[in-house]
Amino acid sequence: RDALRAYLDARWPEPGPRAGRSRLVVLAGPTAVGKGTVAAYIKEHFPEIHLSVSATTRAPRPGEVDGEHYYFVDDAEFDRLVQTGELLEWATVHNTHRYGTPRAPIDRVLAEGGTALLEIDLQGARQVRAADASATLVFLLPPSWDELVQRLVGRGTEDAEERARRLRTARTELAAQNEFDYRVVNDEVARAATEVVALAAQ
Ligand code: 5GP
Repeated sequence: RDALRAYLDARWPEPGPRAGRSRLVVLAGPTAVGKGTVAAYIKEHFPEIHLSVSATTRAPRPGEVDGEHYYFVDDAEFDRLVQTGELLEWATVHNTHRYGTPRAPIDRVLAEGGTALLEIDLQGARQVRAADASATLVFLLPPSWDELVQRLVGRGTEDAEERARRLRTARTELAAQNEFDYRVVNDEVARAATEVVALAAQ
């Protein structure tokens, strides 16, 4: 009888809102691959997708707005967020500053049946996977390694030492792509963004 039940469950699973992957979508990938640009494109063109705003201890860059690009917090406030369990995941990125995803907005969006998109680093992606095995993990790939180096140099926001550090991180990050559910090549921002949205809606 149990065998029959198991057979039937396998053939006709309980109908749910969505079989398989959840609407918690993580976009990760090596540094300078263009995760931020793809995420910004999705925010502008697909406003129904909730783009998570992270907390960070790094200082704002010119043009960055508190509460919009990040919540810029000091070390003491970040400690508090960690201790009170208010972060879904957090990591020290490039051995310098801490970044984390506030849990409450994500829980709210998912409870309402919406889609939440997290643009975070690999360590964070692994924590999300550990917290929710059904999370949808998308890895953004550069068209080539040379292209990645070009993009990092072209951005001009980091000095040589910081660039070298980020390239080392990028190499290890690229090696982790097989841990992800999907891989998307960022050859063109609009195309890559649309592909990510399509995966999120599957
Ligand atoms: P940036 O300082 O250039 O804005 O971001 C540096 C890195 O931090 C990027 O790789 C970005 O994906 C990552 N990052 C941003 N927010 C979060 C977060 O909330 N959690 C984690 N783990 N990484 C984040």
